[in-house]
Amino acid sequence: MATDRLFSRAMAAFVVTSFFPLLCSSAQARGMNYTFVKDAARAPDVSYYDYIVIGGGTAGCPLSATLSERFRVLLLERGGSPYDDERIGDMTRFADTLSDTSAGSPAQRFVSEDGVINSRPRVLGGGSCINAGFYTRAADDYVRGVGWDLGKATAAYRWVEDVVAFQPEVGPWQAALQQGLLESGVAPDNGFTYDHIEGTKVGGSIFDADGRRHTAADLLRYARADGLDVLLRARVAKILFNVRGNRRPVARGVVFHDSAGRMHKAYLNAGHGNEIILSAGAMGSPQLLMLSGVGPADHLSSFGITLVRDQPAVGQGMYDNPMNAIYVPSPTPVEVSLIQRRQLGRPAHGLQQRRRRSQAAPQLRHVRIRGSCHDHASHMQLCKCAVPYKVTVLSTRLCCVPEQTGQLATVPPKQRTPEAIARAAEAMSQLNDTAFRGGFILEKIIGPLSTGHLRLRNRNPDDNPAVTFNYFSHPEDLRRCVAGLSVIERVIQSRAFENFTYSDFSVEMLLNMTASYPVNLLPRHDNDSKSLEQYCKDTVMTIWHYHGGCHVGRVVDTEYRVLGVDALRVIDGSTFNASPGTNPQATVMMLGRYMGVKIQSERLKAAGLGRKKLIAGDPYEGFKLSATLQFSVVPAAKMQATLQKRFWYMMNKSIISSVMYLQRRCNKDKLLEPRNSY
Ligand SMILES: Cc1cc2nc3c(=O)[nH]c(=O)nc-3n(C[C@H](O)[C@H](O)[C@H](O)COP(=O)(O)OP(=O)(O)OC[C@H]3O[C@@H](n4cnc5c(N)ncnc54)[C@H](O)[C@@H]3O)c2cc1C
Repeated sequence: MATDRLFSRAMAAFVVTSFFPLLCSSAQARGMNYTFVKDAARAPDVSYYDYIVIGGGTAGCPLSATLSERFRVLLLERGGSPYDDERIGDMTRFADTLSDTSAGSPAQRFVSEDGVINSRPRVLGGGSCINAGFYTRAADDYVRGVGWDLGKATAAYRWVEDVVAFQPEVGPWQAALQQGLLESGVAPDNGFTYDHIEGTKVGGSIFDADGRRHTAADLLRYARADGLDVLLRARVAKILFNVRGNRRPVARGVVFHDSAGRMHKAYLNAGHGNEIILSAGAMGSPQLLMLSGVGPADHLSSFGITLVRDQPAVGQGMYDNPMNAIYVPSPTPVEVSLIQRRQLGRPAHGLQQRRRRSQAAPQLRHVRIRGSCHDHASHMQLCKCAVPYKVTVLSTRLCCVPEQTGQLATVPPKQRTPEAIARAAEAMSQLNDTAFRGGFILEKIIGPLSTGHLRLRNRNPDDNPAVTFNYFSHPEDLRRCVAGLSVIERVIQSRAFENFTYSDFSVEMLLNMTASYPVNLLPRHDNDSKSLEQYCKDTVMTIWHYHGGCHVGRVVDTEYRVLGVDALRVIDGSTFNASPGTNPQATVMMLGRYMGVKIQSERLKAAGLGRKKLIAGDPYEGFKLSATLQFSVVPAAKMQATLQKRFWYMMNKSIISSVMYLQRRCNKDKLLEPRNSY
């Protein structure tokens, strides 16, 4: 559909990234061989497991893989396999997934009540399958602040990075932007690092040197095949609870439907410690809690949902980091790239806004102010700078709409008919290639203070809930946005960036041009280029880092157990109070691994196995340790039988783990050298 193409291309302009080193054999090929992944239609009507994980996303995959090392785990994912969809693996087709609004799409579009268009994943691997790939760890302060053990978190990051993270190459456009940011006073230059530190850096990516995406689904290679069942197209409708008298409700199973609509039930095996774990993301987890009866009592009763536990904080504290951009047409072709760079730091003070006031370059004059535009998702670069806002620089081929065809953004949203948008899209496709050259320079607010909420629209788990982020409702967020735009202006005017700007384009023209693009459903105002505050509000977009809804301390405890009920946890981005590392996926994957290790260790400890340090970040190391420690704590009476059983079990595990470990090391050594300091 023309609308979808138009929108997706516009959105893709904000998310292009880079190429990274190549693995020996593609994850896609390996993924196809997962023997434990099958379609939910092949599942029995009733089944039993030690753990049931809802949502095979960025957290759910590493979590399930880890738990499967010792337990029987069921992972239920409503979407299909990323290995069956060519668009997911291919960086250049990033926009194709976002623009696909069909029911089988790996991306499910939603529009927040604010009028900002957004996306959520619907595929095994979750957000890591449709995102822009930028990979950066959380700062040490964040890790400590949340209460995670720094050493174990680092080990978990490495476990993830061994499979999915790469160092990008840097092209001329990106190099110019980096220099422009340094020239603008954002320093020091930190080179390549996964760390979240002040200054300029080249961050990691989940795209390799061939532009192939590596996702959380790739982490399932760590799984014990006999310990895990992954069901695709398994749409969980609700969690079932045992509710008896005044006792705390206990989660005991889930109801899910396959693609044919057939209902299945999965229950927890009897046994202390078995649990259901929600990893359905910031949209899905609060929604499913509510659909299962855990949420604000009055809200649930208005939908006729039987109350299990009155929990008013479910769905509260929804945050989305607002993103704003300035489009910069470039006289010089820009390379295809994805998010590679960011800058975090404080820019020099005393910004001078030299606004050039001459005529636009001839080839773009016809589109410069009144047109609307979208991009071809082919080029992009990301730089970010300045705490507490970041500047994100993207280069992308841009397509602009001549004035006679659209002016979509200046037309009130309700009057933007499909026909008008189709005409605009058609006109765009006729434009000369030079009109598409250019890039967006973006800024994103770190840790926005504006907060919102999530509510049900209906009882259908397939439908999006209603979410409101209240962008810029807090004045501090607006102030940061304006400060960030000022840095962008400096980058545009820097010497380093000269080859990528038309000298006769004033910043005011660029602001006007960008404000005319249909990046959201909000009406525009005449003073967009005069008032940066108005510009921020009118052109607000998402960088898709929405989080919250099941906050630690309000909905779950520090062990991610849902407050007020038993045998239920939430482990995913919905638990975050702030987006870690500013780009969350690294930490979401880390969290899945970290909590999987922790849960295993604690259960074994509780079972009297004295397993204190058994599983570190590296499974090979973990099993080595377990082989030595466990023998000493087995009760004497059962010594012989237990020893024999455990010996063969651990031997088996150690061999498998060693082979996996050596395979990974071999892959990395062969392909990723020279890489990084980790
Ligand atoms: C377009 C886009 C670009 C982004 N770019 C970046 C980036 O460059 N860098 C970065 O760090 N982060 C980026 N992010 C953010 C990052 O990808 C997410 O924060 C992260 O993936 C969230 O992980 P999660 O585990 O919380 O949820 P998800 O990964 O969303 O996983 C939730 C899973 O649960 C499944 N599910 C939901 N409901 C049900 C149900 N009822 N039954 C069964 N399954 C269900 C979903 O299908 C999904 O697979 C981007 C996100 C998007 C959407």
